[in-house]
Amino acid sequence: ETQKETLGFQTEVKQLLHLMVHSLYSNKEIFLRELISNASDAAEKLRFEALEKGDLYEGDSELKIRVSFDKEAKTVTIEDNGIGMSREEVIEHLGTIAKSGTASFLSNLTGDQSKDSQLIGQFGVGFYSAFIVADQVDVFTRRAGAGISDAVHWSSRGEGEFTIASTEKAGRGTRIVLHLKEGEEEFADGWRLRSLVRKYSDHIAFPVLMEKEAAPVVDDAEEKSETESKAPEFEAVNSATALWTRSKGDLKDEEYQEFYKHISHDYSEPLTWAHNKVEGSLEYTSLLYVPGHAPFDLWNREAPRGLKLYVQRVFIMDQADQFLPLYLRFIKGVVDSNNLSLNVSREILQRDPSVDKLRSALTKRVLDMLSKLAKSDAEKYAGFWKEFGQVLKEGPAEDYANRDKILKLLRFASTHTGTADQSVGLEDYVARMKEGQEKIFYVVADNYNTAKSSPHLEIFRKKGIEVLLLTDRIDEWMMSQLFDFEGKSFQDVTKGELNLGEVESEEEKKQQEESAKQLEGLLERLKPVLEARVSDVRVTHRLTDSPACLVLGDYDMGLQMRKIMEAAGQ
Ligand code: ADP
Ligand code: MG
Repeated sequence: ETQKETLGFQTEVKQLLHLMVHSLYSNKEIFLRELISNASDAAEKLRFEALEKGDLYEGDSELKIRVSFDKEAKTVTIEDNGIGMSREEVIEHLGTIAKSGTASFLSNLTGDQSKDSQLIGQFGVGFYSAFIVADQVDVFTRRAGAGISDAVHWSSRGEGEFTIASTEKAGRGTRIVLHLKEGEEEFADGWRLRSLVRKYSDHIAFPVLMEKEAAPVVDDAEEKSETESKAPEFEAVNSATALWTRSKGDLKDEEYQEFYKHISHDYSEPLTWAHNKVEGSLEYTSLLYVPGHAPFDLWNREAPRGLKLYVQRVFIMDQADQFLPLYLRFIKGVVDSNNLSLNVSREILQRDPSVDKLRSALTKRVLDMLSKLAKSDAEKYAGFWKEFGQVLKEGPAEDYANRDKILKLLRFASTHTGTADQSVGLEDYVARMKEGQEKIFYVVADNYNTAKSSPHLEIFRKKGIEVLLLTDRIDEWMMSQLFDFEGKSFQDVTKGELNLGEVESEEEKKQQEESAKQLEGLLERLKPVLEARVSDVRVTHRLTDSPACLVLGDYDMGLQMRKIMEAAGQ
């Protein structure tokens, strides 16, 4: 080996390594899934690059992954003939964490192991999970197309630094050797590894090969020595077919779940999924997942998003963000199209008309999946809403065509439930509307307590009319984009004249007119006193207990909006 150097891990990697080793000990076995998942990604990347440069295959186009072990040396080896890595790529990918926001993510860690292991799920564990079971990891890799002596040997004990050296490697791709820690020797075992491959990596689209188990013991000494001298035979231990190409009926929930972890780089369970095959002029298969929790970088504009794009089962790209609108950026999944061409690029995607068709079809699939979830499992839907509701609220403004569908998916706190939980849908609200009530009433405030004790609600309480209590940052902006739901317009109870429509009886109206007359004198005296501070003083029937309140004009900016503008220095 030549050109050997010792480099330090990025600070975040050190933190992550420490965390991983200490909080994932109860789920050690996932290292195998992560390394096989990477090997599969590497094979897909090679296949994609080879679409243009066939000689990258170097005469070996049978992509595969091999898992082997050595009981005596206490090692487990995972090897692929995928794309491999150059020296620079090794340093970048196995020495740093590229994800933006990592530092702030790590600073959120509590030191409480069970909480932190939940958090790390949001991050995705990846390559570094090797150090859960190994106290030394060696990576031998050669990028496809590079010369045999341009291979790289990376080695680390997971303690702050790694060495990197040039070496020779005949086959392209990556071989990862795990030197098992004391106490983890159980993994250097054929039966154990096989069962882990079947459990976690069955869906991997390339064969995961392992040496054939020794034939049942034969007494014949001659035959025995013959088998010993033979080169080992390998067999695939997984089904090695792309999961989404299989039919729904053949797939178990666990298989869908493991596949989710592979494509999402998320380590916890998805909430739900939808798998569809569509034939006709637009032909595609989609497998779309709603994650169980929001990623730590949900609000980071640069955070990766989008689906994994395949064309006729060939992997084309990760994070194809043209297939779903921004307000569905949390959806993970795969789309495999028969309409796009294999040499499609990001630029071409922007112009291809079938992309628009796919986008609207997939958007509908997601909205349908969500409304199905809302109907079938309120508890799960509540979980979804808690994690992603705020993002979905961007939808009605962004996606006019699907506005009604999205509106039905929104959930609010309301005077009806008496709790801060956002659980009331607009359909529930409309079903409870009083006879003669024409509008959907709402109030916007900074928090639930302010909202529910707003003096503007008094008259509504008295009349038993439900009011939605909106307290998310995005709410006022969202409401400014909405006009009606199923023909019922939205009305901010703090704005302008209150018209409670037919809910008020003739008698009430008469009473109101009389009291207005009586108070005319008072108004005349109040107006000049308050002139500089308010635009008008009116008699109101909206209060029952409080003597007075401030209201905004119909077209005035709401309070939250004012605060946002003020904060922005306007
Ligand atoms: P992720 O898979 O989420 O990108 P990982 O920590 O699992 O994160 O891997 C980090 C990166 O290291 C990968 O994105 C890839 O670029 C590189 N890598 C890991 N394993 C391999 C491999 N077997 N072949 C080629 N590149 C690999
Ligand atoms: Mg990975």
